[in-house]
Amino acid sequence: MKDELLFCPLGGSGEIGMNMNLFGYGQPSDHKWIMVDIGVTFADDTIPGVDLIYPDPGFIVERKDNLLGIVVTHAHEDHIGAIAHLWPKLKCKIFATPFTALLIREKFKEKQIDITNDLKIVELNGKVSLDPFEIEYITLTHSILEPNGLRIQTPVGSILHTGDWKVDPDPLVGDKTNEKRLKEIGEEGVLAMICDSTNVMSAGKAGSELDVRKSMLNIMSRLNKRIIITSFASNVARMETAFYCAEQIGRQISLVGRSMHRIYKAARQCGYLKNTIEPIDAREAKNFSREKIVYLCTGSQGEPMGAMMRISSYVHPDVFIEQGDAVIFSSKIIPGNEKKLYKLHNQLVKDGIEVISEENEFVHVSGHPNREDLKEMYQWVKPKCVIPVHGEHRHMIEHISFAKEMQVPHPVQVENGDIVKLFPGDKPEVYDKAPSGRLYLDGNVSIDPDSQSLKDRKNLSANGYLEVTIMITPKGNIHNDPILSFRGIPVEDKDDFTYGLIEEIEIISRTFKVGSKQQEHNLIDALKIACRKFSKERTGKKPYTNINLVRI
Ligand SMILES: [Zn+2]
Ligand SMILES: [Zn+2]
Repeated sequence: MKDELLFCPLGGSGEIGMNMNLFGYGQPSDHKWIMVDIGVTFADDTIPGVDLIYPDPGFIVERKDNLLGIVVTHAHEDHIGAIAHLWPKLKCKIFATPFTALLIREKFKEKQIDITNDLKIVELNGKVSLDPFEIEYITLTHSILEPNGLRIQTPVGSILHTGDWKVDPDPLVGDKTNEKRLKEIGEEGVLAMICDSTNVMSAGKAGSELDVRKSMLNIMSRLNKRIIITSFASNVARMETAFYCAEQIGRQISLVGRSMHRIYKAARQCGYLKNTIEPIDAREAKNFSREKIVYLCTGSQGEPMGAMMRISSYVHPDVFIEQGDAVIFSSKIIPGNEKKLYKLHNQLVKDGIEVISEENEFVHVSGHPNREDLKEMYQWVKPKCVIPVHGEHRHMIEHISFAKEMQVPHPVQVENGDIVKLFPGDKPEVYDKAPSGRLYLDGNVSIDPDSQSLKDRKNLSANGYLEVTIMITPKGNIHNDPILSFRGIPVEDKDDFTYGLIEEIEIISRTFKVGSKQQEHNLIDALKIACRKFSKERTGKKPYTNINLVRI
């Protein structure tokens, strides 16, 4: 029987975030696998207490003996965020370029896992051999250091997995897109291209970091009081632009926020940001007049704990802001974050601080390919099949139409869990489904989205909590004076509510005798119903109710 070549996304197809892709090769019952990327998505307010979401790796965990390695394209959280959480279930080698590897190592350090022996550093444009896969890293441009596409060669053909990219003719930090190599690979033949869909709705080109730099310099030259720039720490080109502009207008620069310092350090360690001025400590920066300082800080999405939010709320210990100052939001307003960001913008403008964002000035370019960038990549690579990933359904369906427009013979639409047979067959198609889903990181524990702990917490946060403790005498009689405690129930008069509830409990209790376990259960059920009904009538809330029986 012929060997098969398979592709299966477990995350990132049908959503932007938590990328996890699998490639399989071999006999139908004995595929060897590689995983490309292992990212997270950030939870929103609808999931109380949960910060991170990642793909359910169950399908590959079951096959982990045949998993040859995790190959990482770049260091964005939607590509590496889950690595230290999920690796213990997979225990395989990890491959990444130097900057990405450094950030991965930090993640393992936080979890107190020594990854030294399993984390392999790949040079830029380097190769990894994981028989039967030959993987070649190809330098692309994006919005982080060291973004790579992967050429995955197998005995039956080559795949180009683009990872995240755009065509930036002047990325400022790091190399340009390795166009030459992409063209060569195209000439040699590409069976399938797995491609970024994020900006497929946007016409033209994504634009260049150099253009942002020019515009930022113009803007910053006209500002004459304190300048605070906020952007994603991981965008090191933007960081360099902040340094460059500060120097050009004769100011000092200071970094604010943990991840800003972390990324600066990592970039320097990998040999980047060599020709910039030295940042000064934010405590020292306080001694400079406000015409002479630029701050670069975290929290560009209005994150509650981000530096920008703390500065604008006047609670930051080192950075003060006042009327006449300016804040530049040099980042995308990510859909879903508008509400908290606009709240932040409002807070600032209300206090006489100028807000500059992508809405009123040119201070940001995307890191993902617009249609003209896609067109270029298609022309270089000339794939026989295109599989759009890294997008919501609307992006991926639009990307399918785009691929058809570009005369790609076989565009294949997928969603998480789809298994595409790329070889053999007349044409690549989805032929099977792997189990897929999401896991939530709740505290230190991976939980299922419909786990009881989360249901309980949602219930508690909406309805409050009531606890009743009833004493039972050795003869099985119920003692008067139950003990009540409650939280989060909007009572108008606490005493009135408590006495009413005690009365209700005593009426019910009188009708019960508690000898057997069954009788206990019956009492608990009856009390639960009565207490919740009482609370509903008095307050409109049916609290999460717990009844304890204590034998004395
Ligand atoms: Zn991404
Ligand atoms: Zn990315």
